[in-house]
Amino acid sequence: MLGFDRLSPNGGDLTGISKRIRETVLRQHTQSMTHHECELCQQPGGEVLWQDERCRVVRVGGLDGEAFPGFCRVIWRDHVREMSDLSAADQRHVFNLVLATEIALRKTVRPDKINLASFGNMVPHVHWHVIPRWRDDSHFPGAIWAAAQRSATPRERVANAVIQAAVAQALSEIQNGG
Ligand SMILES: [Zn+2]
Repeated sequence: MLGFDRLSPNGGDLTGISKRIRETVLRQHTQSMTHHECELCQQPGGEVLWQDERCRVVRVGGLDGEAFPGFCRVIWRDHVREMSDLSAADQRHVFNLVLATEIALRKTVRPDKINLASFGNMVPHVHWHVIPRWRDDSHFPGAIWAAAQRSATPRERVANAVIQAAVAQALSEIQNGG
């Protein structure tokens, strides 16, 4: 519940009040899961390929990384629950990075398809999955979280540095309108 005692008593204008309400709501979201409980606040979530002060792109390891080589996640740094909790500029930054990662994976690991997904049901911290898919991968055409349909086809691993350079180049082209 929003208590009016939290609002400015000295007659802030409507813009100020709605800003305060938004801040309160954001604070409540943040408190709904502490950083100690959230794995994306505690760990990078993969090998960091690119990052700035707001966001990072990581390469997923383990069995998922082997089955879908090049599988990346774009992860917001702060513990923010939904895309619509971010400012418009920050939303744009996330989308630019998702797009740059998709472009980089198409160029470097050359999948048959890219899957983009964002759930956050288990880890309610803004992150996007950017998943390269092949017609003969273990789950195609199902989602990678569905039941496997065949054993995974071994694929050559593209080096992190190659994907990293491609992400940086794609992001630069997007931000420069190119
Ligand atoms: Zn978190």
